[in-house]
Amino acid sequence: MVFGALDIGGTKIAGGLVDAGGRVVARVQRPTPARGSAEGMMRAVDAVVGELAGRAEWGALEGLGIGSAGPVDTFAGTVSPVNIPAWRAFPLVERVRRHPAVPAGVEPVLVGDAVAMAAAEHWAGAARGVANALCMVVSTGVGGGLVLGGALHAGRTGNAGHIGHITVDQNGPVCPCGARGCVERYASGTAIAAHALESGWRPPAGRPATAREVGEAARAGDARALAAFDRAGRALAAAVAATAALVELDLVVVGGGVSQAGEALFAPLRRHLASYAVLDFTRGLRVVPAGLALDAGLIGAAAVGGAAAGVAVRGRSAA
Ligand SMILES: [Zn+2]
Repeated sequence: MVFGALDIGGTKIAGGLVDAGGRVVARVQRPTPARGSAEGMMRAVDAVVGELAGRAEWGALEGLGIGSAGPVDTFAGTVSPVNIPAWRAFPLVERVRRHPAVPAGVEPVLVGDAVAMAAAEHWAGAARGVANALCMVVSTGVGGGLVLGGALHAGRTGNAGHIGHITVDQNGPVCPCGARGCVERYASGTAIAAHALESGWRPPAGRPATAREVGEAARAGDARALAAFDRAGRALAAAVAATAALVELDLVVVGGGVSQAGEALFAPLRRHLASYAVLDFTRGLRVVPAGLALDAGLIGAAAVGGAAAGVAVRGRSAA
């Protein structure tokens, strides 16, 4: 038994076959022709599916999941990724279903990439065996997904858990989404780098002004870099505390490029969380780094595809 997975992002289109234990057994990848036409994008997806279908394991395909950069609409089967302008309400599920190699009876299932990450962490990563978890991706943007009652909670359109657009400052800066004071305006890699620059931090000569460089500076004790991460950790902590109050969380998992800064991010996040999550049922909430790195998108898409096919893919540690 294998599950097929597609992971569609602004820079690459990845495909994989994942076994029942959550291990990637085949992997293919193409660059995303993000500035090309809608059909050019689809040709690249078709090529990835075709290449996967050439693998012997494809014969044991039980489900097919698609994780995509958002926004997505699982209910409609459409995607409108911010980084792929040619795709607006593009009927990706229907188009993948029509690929001649996709067997009749295998229904592709679509979720947002952060929801896929949550599915992956629940199946084979840091949230294995955890009934109620918030899994966040802190990267160029901030996304997330929820596991509730032992199962992925994707929501009607596949976007539940999108913590990046929770307002943490009612009078805060306007967010590209149209609201004010969203978490993303403080905690994304872009926001961290911008805040550090505004306060006078500069990257070492020849290096880009990215959150990664700010993280290096924070580790070296630079006060401006530390302040940028403190601000990010505080915004994340406020949103995590709100989420915990709403749904009672057992665990918070943080992945994505910015989480690679390690304690520069986790220390302020935990410190602020201790002051925001103060109710009996929210206090002491554990916050841990993601367990899966590069393959989380594929493993999560496969988990979603398998779950939709009625195959239990929860928690390989419990097996
Ligand atoms: Zn927003």
